[in-house]
Amino acid sequence: MLLPIVFIFLSTAAIPSSAHPAGASVDLLDKRTLGTVGRNVNLFQNVTQVCGTRGPSDELRQAHADFLEQSRHGNQERQASSPIVVQTYIHFVSTIDQMDHYPPSVRTAMVSSQVSILTSLYRPAGIAFKLISTTWTVNDAWATDASSTPMKRSLRRGSYEALNLYFQTNLSAAPYAYTAASTLLGYCTLPTTITYPGPAGLALEYPTLDYATDGCNVLAGSMPKAPVPAFGYNLGKTAVHEVGHWFGLLHTFQDNTCATGDPGDYCDDTPQESQSTTGCPTGKDSCPGSPGLDPVSNYMDYSTDACYSRFSPDQLARMKNMFGLFRLGF
Ligand SMILES: [Zn+2]
Repeated sequence: MLLPIVFIFLSTAAIPSSAHPAGASVDLLDKRTLGTVGRNVNLFQNVTQVCGTRGPSDELRQAHADFLEQSRHGNQERQASSPIVVQTYIHFVSTIDQMDHYPPSVRTAMVSSQVSILTSLYRPAGIAFKLISTTWTVNDAWATDASSTPMKRSLRRGSYEALNLYFQTNLSAAPYAYTAASTLLGYCTLPTTITYPGPAGLALEYPTLDYATDGCNVLAGSMPKAPVPAFGYNLGKTAVHEVGHWFGLLHTFQDNTCATGDPGDYCDDTPQESQSTTGCPTGKDSCPGSPGLDPVSNYMDYSTDACYSRFSPDQLARMKNMFGLFRLGF
């Protein structure tokens, strides 16, 4: 039975200063703020929309540049033709205050719907997700992301090719030092070369330290069927966006510039975009001197869930190529 929905208003004042990790460096930060709040805001989690994924490493940029060059010579589709089944582990982490909203039946429905959405929206890429297991933890520090590394070292399962999704009830923007912001929608690790991989192809019970923090952190309220939904962002597509990063995709507005020659997201079929999108505008064109309108419906922009509808063909192929380069067999 569903419990009554309560109002949730988080503020940075409620987050202890220890939530700011020492030496945390973030190369790229973009922030979505809800401009207009509907009358029913009290029924929803009041989210300041942020993807906290870090900027790409030089290594990842080079890999993108190489695949872009191949795609321009017509080789990419052939390389990316094999289907992928991603072993998926889902971890549900709640604060003590929130736990009563998430009885097992609710969690099961949310996870099932989320996996269905991932499977459906990644089908055009030839990528499927096989749910291996789920965990349920009540821990305030973990649920607010004030203690992300210990959480992941405890919960993460599978080798580097396995996807771990952490759905946190109170995922906080505090580690990224947004002053007025409170709730973070998500962030994810981009792929990198693993120095000490486990046995190739073997799903490890515990990850090596080399990639213990690998995976995506997502606000639980962004999941479909969430009892305390994130306003405008509760169709499960934040996870779709973050998993795109896990496969190596960059934001469509990467580098935030209209400069000629800037590689942007290294995909030829996503129009150049200098500003991330808020909401779902019509005719947005942040780089009027470049071909095409902004790709506001692309999952790797910052639009609302209802606005999201596609990956581009280059992105679809790129994800599989990146998976093969960095994760498959590790
Ligand atoms: Zn992002």
